Parts: sequence; C-alpha cells; structure tokens
Amino acid sequence: MTEFPEPVPPERQPEGMASDIVIKAQPDDERVWVPMDENVWFRPLCLHTVEGYWTSLLRVRASGVVSCHRHPAPVHGYVIKGSWRYLEHDWIATEGSYVFEPPGETHTLVVDEDVDEMITWFLVNGAMLYMDRDGNLTGFSDVFQRIEMCREHYIKVGLGADFVNQFIR
Ligand code: FE
Repeated sequence: MTEFPEPVPPERQPEGMASDIVIKAQPDDERVWVPMDENVWFRPLCLHTVEGYWTSLLRVRASGVVSCHRHPAPVHGYVIKGSWRYLEHDWIATEGSYVFEPPGETHTLVVDEDVDEMITWFLVNGAMLYMDRDGNLTGFSDVFQRIEMCREHYIKVGLGADFVNQFIR
C-alpha cells in the first residue's frame, strides 16, 4: 500500500483564490452542448472573463465549412475525436493531434466527408474574428459573447440562466 502524506491544509491556500473546475468534459446531458450552427456545437469548460479567454469542446457532425476566421491571439487545440483541417494548410488535425494557431492567421476550418463526428478541445485567447472571403470582418466571438450564447441556450433548454456560472472565472 502506498502511504500518502497529509493533504496541504485549506488555510495554506491563498485568500481570494478562484475555485477549481472539475467536470466531465463530454457531458451526459446533451443540453450542455450549445448549438452554434446546424451540426456545430460547443461545450463550455472554462470561460475566463479576467484573462479574456475560453476553453471549450467544438463538436461538428457534418462535413463542410465550419467558419473562416482570423485570430488576434494564440489558440491551442487538441483533437479528441475525428479530424478536420484548414483550407490554407496541407496538414490534417487527426485524433490525438495538438494544434497551435498563431496570432494573425486567417483560416477556414473544414470537416471532410469521411468524418462522422469531430470533437476538439480549444483554448481561444481574446477573440475569434469571423471573415468573409474578401477579408471583411463579418462578426466576432469573445468570452462575453460566449457567455451570453450559453446563457440564452441554457434558459431555452431548461437548465436555467445560472447554469453557465459554473464555467465562469
Ligand atoms: Fe482557428
């Protein structure tokens, strides 16, 4: 039997520390997934209003263009299931891939026809800037816009306006 030491007592933790988040990333309750488009959902994990980032799972269940967007700040991703790619690159992000997306890049996320479902964890800093094919800004997402999307959806599906609060730091 491995003997563990006593846990560090609560009084040793700094005052004002945020609480941790430990949740089943792929939820049992389908309502937790927030629809973004037909066959496209995101599942919030941590919505950080002070640092201005969010982490979530992106799930896509149809082939096609998910979005064309520009990143003003870095993005990190990890593919949990399926695969996807950017039209601007010759690589494919497959199950188990880690992806770093540098600030400044504009790219078009697509899912190919042989993929039934893709699920990817993303950490998006700052914002997503949605672009048309001519490079004009057509919309954006930031952590506050994501919180609003979640809140509206969770009210609609009966989880309530406060359901999103557990993900906010
Ligand atoms: Fe991207």
